[in-house]
Amino acid sequence: MEWKETLARLAAPENEARFEALTQELARRGLSYELQESDETTSSDSAFFFRAPAAPKTVHVRNVITRTAPEGPHVLLGAHYDTHEGSCGANDNAAAVCILLALAEELKRRGIAAEIVFFDGEETGMTGSKLYARSMDRQNITGMVNLDMCGYGDTVVVRRKKNDRALAPFFDKQRLKRFSGREVNYLPPSDDASFIAERMGTANIAVMPEWDAAFMPALDQYASFSLGIPPELRQQMAQLEIMSTLHGGVRDKVECVQDSAMQLAYDFVLDALTAPPEKGFFARLRERGKGAQE
Ligand SMILES: [Zn+2]
Repeated sequence: MEWKETLARLAAPENEARFEALTQELARRGLSYELQESDETTSSDSAFFFRAPAAPKTVHVRNVITRTAPEGPHVLLGAHYDTHEGSCGANDNAAAVCILLALAEELKRRGIAAEIVFFDGEETGMTGSKLYARSMDRQNITGMVNLDMCGYGDTVVVRRKKNDRALAPFFDKQRLKRFSGREVNYLPPSDDASFIAERMGTANIAVMPEWDAAFMPALDQYASFSLGIPPELRQQMAQLEIMSTLHGGVRDKVECVQDSAMQLAYDFVLDALTAPPEKGFFARLRERGKGAQE
């Protein structure tokens, strides 16, 4: 897949240019889309690594929504397309936008129902995803899958906040093993938070180098949103390789995003989305019984 060409178009430092590039990409692929627009008040709860909380202000938010099949129950896939000020936002989060564009095309081709939302405003307190979550068709959404930082590294990292059957394939141990993935309790806050607040099942997906992924369990006790990360751990986190791909770091460049990382995330999500429905306990027992007779 031609990941880098699309990425180069999407990874602009200005949010307006990112919006233009995204809508052009959708049109180019024959994917129709809707805009959801509103003036929203920012909050500082996405202030994570080095940012001081900012005073609330009003921002114009534009979410871009595309659907792959007619009505009915469906999964919601999301990634923010906006970027942190001063960053080209290649890994955060144009890489995930590329992956979602490719997934939208493929799911549409296969007739698999999904709603795909490119959120604005993640970097201004998740204003875009909060707007979306407030007004979504809750009845028909079976679960929310969020992609953030999926362009660097060799390990898929998945966090869940609520057990949800529809999303079980994303946490299936065999599948995670096949994609050199692991489940973690802590990942930096992202747009999935807006859906967790609505008590929806979520899977938040990132890709990172194996050693960074191995460090995540050290942060498990800070998995609650209400707790901050103590300064000594914050310093350690800043040393992680993945951090250099964000917010103006030395690897915050299109050239540093890896095709292999994007392909890995794409393959993992597609595999989980197209997995046969999980068998119930009794069906598994019956099968085991049959196996024993043979
Ligand atoms: Zn992000």
